[in-house]
Amino acid sequence: MRKYSVAAIVREALRYNAGWERAWRSPEPKKQYDAVIIGAGGHGLATAYYLGKNHGIKNVAIIEKGWLGGGNTGRNTTIIRSNYLQDSSAAIYEKARSLYETLSQELNYNVMFSPRGVMMLAQTEHEIRGYRRTAHANNLQGVETEFIDPKTVKKLCPIIELSGPRFPVLGALWQPRGGTARHDAVAWGYARACSDMGMDIIQKCEVTDILKSNGKVVGVETTKGVIKTHNLGIIVAGNSSILAEKAGFRLPIESVSLQALVSEPVKPCMDVVVMANTVHGYMSQSDKGEMVIGGGTDGFNNYTQRGSFHHIEETVRALIETFPIISRLKMLRQWGGVVDVTGDRSPIISKTPLEGCFINCGWGTGGFKAIPGSGWAMAETMANGSPSQLASAFSLDRFREGRFIDESVAAGVAH
Ligand SMILES: Cc1cc2nc3c(=O)[nH]c(=O)nc-3n(C[C@H](O)[C@H](O)[C@H](O)COP(=O)(O)OP(=O)(O)OC[C@H]3O[C@@H](n4cnc5c(N)ncnc54)[C@H](O)[C@@H]3O)c2cc1C
Repeated sequence: MRKYSVAAIVREALRYNAGWERAWRSPEPKKQYDAVIIGAGGHGLATAYYLGKNHGIKNVAIIEKGWLGGGNTGRNTTIIRSNYLQDSSAAIYEKARSLYETLSQELNYNVMFSPRGVMMLAQTEHEIRGYRRTAHANNLQGVETEFIDPKTVKKLCPIIELSGPRFPVLGALWQPRGGTARHDAVAWGYARACSDMGMDIIQKCEVTDILKSNGKVVGVETTKGVIKTHNLGIIVAGNSSILAEKAGFRLPIESVSLQALVSEPVKPCMDVVVMANTVHGYMSQSDKGEMVIGGGTDGFNNYTQRGSFHHIEETVRALIETFPIISRLKMLRQWGGVVDVTGDRSPIISKTPLEGCFINCGWGTGGFKAIPGSGWAMAETMANGSPSQLASAFSLDRFREGRFIDESVAAGVAH
């Protein structure tokens, strides 16, 4: 595949952009692969990429029922941070964040990583204590965060209202190298690199069953026929329980709709990401100028990619009290994604009771930031047949053994 470069842009400009190649191939499935991944979201594609790059396993198919990146990966609000409380969480999220720093160069694809800084507002005494504790934990984990006072909050984000009508801003947990990236580009960049390694990304192909023999996986049945493999990764976010049932085991996962909205574009007014967890809303500004706004999950299980109306009202109300300047802004569009939530708000990267079948799910409302680290750890797990060091705490066994990784503060509202 031709390298993207300044020279390529100049060359194509001179010939009316007629020479660009397709970014990835669209092949028909082969009969058998060394590894098959179900789900061409960011986590599935990153897993395939690191299987090839770190472990030399390139005879890989990534099977996607819709279009690649069309699940939660293309629907999220793109926040990247690693300020989690528990050591195992901080390790995998920080691994991901640090891979994001050079992902554009690594993939030769501009993922628009923008480490503009992320702040989580403390609006109650309880939150101050919680975030101070997280800042101390992060410093021990080697994750750069600090607790900042209201004056610094205002300096970093002048449009914020510190003395809000219900909850004043009392400080914030600040991660200066957190930020955002272009979500589609992350999926497209990994897809292009996978295709370049000879992997097959098979879109519009649904996995309808998982084939087993003597307790081992032997392949998948799809809408394009049977595909054989002895190494299967299920990486389908909100659809995880459905696929797990086909594989013959149950998951401690609930699927709920989470929604987001964007405003009309306005001039640059905010160059950090702000999360207001007490009033329940968060906001950043995209490069196009739209205010990107995240809301909450529905209070009931469902598989709709919409989200219910009252959340829009609640989210907008929360943001208007935090940023009164946006009160007359028009909203452009709203959408939802089906997120996969575990009881301890931590992910699952694990072997399963079906030999040769591995699962990566449970990223809930906050897995975009984890894509490179999760792919790295899942690839190692699939290549070695046992959990990698990064993934070992996130096995399915933890629910049976009571080894929960409680991230309800870091992941309960903020994404
Ligand atoms: C509104 C919203 C805001 C969010 N905001 C953030 C944020 O700011 N920061 C953050 O870190 N995270 C955020 N998230 C969470 C993040 O988007 C997800 O955790 C992450 O994208 C999950 O990626 P994935 O690859 O696991 O899943 P997905 O991107 O959903 O990919 C799974 C793929 O599997 C496919 N699939 C399912 N079943 C089958 C089948 N039977 N056969 C074949 N293919 C199948 C689906 O079509 C889908 O494309 C947000 C999510 C939403 C919905």
